[in-house]
Amino acid sequence: MPPPFRALNIDTFAREVAAFAWTRPILRVDMHHTFYPAHADWKGLASVEGMHVFHTRDRSFDDIAQHVSIAPDGMIWTGRDWNKAPASVGCNMNADAFMFEAIGNFDEGNDRLDGAQLAAVVGVIDIVQRHHRLPVQALLFHREVPQTKKTCPGTSIEKLDILMAVAQRRREHAAIA
Ligand SMILES: [Zn+2]
Repeated sequence: MPPPFRALNIDTFAREVAAFAWTRPILRVDMHHTFYPAHADWKGLASVEGMHVFHTRDRSFDDIAQHVSIAPDGMIWTGRDWNKAPASVGCNMNADAFMFEAIGNFDEGNDRLDGAQLAAVVGVIDIVQRHHRLPVQALLFHREVPQTKKTCPGTSIEKLDILMAVAQRRREHAAIA
């Protein structure tokens, strides 16, 4: 999904995942926070374009690192081509990942992941996992990689809470289908 970057709601995101011509396997969803921009810094498209410039010019990535960025208002911003491996956790682990960044600094005492943004985070994980027939456990927090000292996606976020929410969403959708 090269620029221009677009803001999708969860229903549009689900349709695009279903319609996308995937050419690589997805075996895992990787979750990060941006740290910066934090909620107070968020300016929508200008912030996504800012990350694109930072990643390509200052960090020499070939594109913005993440496949989508999830905004404080729950909108899902497109990023890197979904058929390209992300610049995720490194350590030879990027190849088969779908990677998103939740906009914010979720270290304790800073932003809170809740409301529409939390619902979108859980929705993105669930939709990508179900499309690729993955279990709920196919989720990696950046900080779980032992080679990093980062707290990403933030010390205020418990992985078990996210897994339980994804499992709950999956049960609700199974009931509808
Ligand atoms: Zn991270």
